[in-house]
Amino acid sequence: MRNSDQITYIANVIAISQADGKVTDKEQGAVAFVRQKNGLSEENTQAAIRLVQAGDYNITPVGRYSDTIRNLEDMLLVSLIDGDLSDKEKKAMLAFAKVLKLSQEQINVIVSETKKFVRLISAETKCDACGITLPAGSRFCAECGQKIEP
Ligand SMILES: [Zn+2]
Repeated sequence: MRNSDQITYIANVIAISQADGKVTDKEQGAVAFVRQKNGLSEENTQAAIRLVQAGDYNITPVGRYSDTIRNLEDMLLVSLIDGDLSDKEKKAMLAFAKVLKLSQEQINVIVSETKKFVRLISAETKCDACGITLPAGSRFCAECGQKIEP
């Protein structure tokens, strides 16, 4: 990606992480993960942070279509990392999906794939029986003894 696209790419992700007004540790971690995954430079990331902090930043599609789809997936990743989508996150993302002319079915596929991925990279897992949060890789629930499926 060109520098200007890199800045837009990470600015979109940062903007989503701030959509609900607060950036959690998990969101911050996810932004760092997205940066690394896409080989985005520190310099471009700093430029993106300045851009978003200047206010009134609108999520903008980056260069190529494939980059834009990946960008949407990464935005979703950051939104989903601390639970479900907030209304503001949902609204911002749907507006973006509309610009990309994605069908509801395509959106659903991206959302479910991203949810799977979030579960994989999240450091926690949930007990199906009693619902408590456990460290990833737990084999039995510490609370009720339920076997945890990997
Ligand atoms: Zn349990």
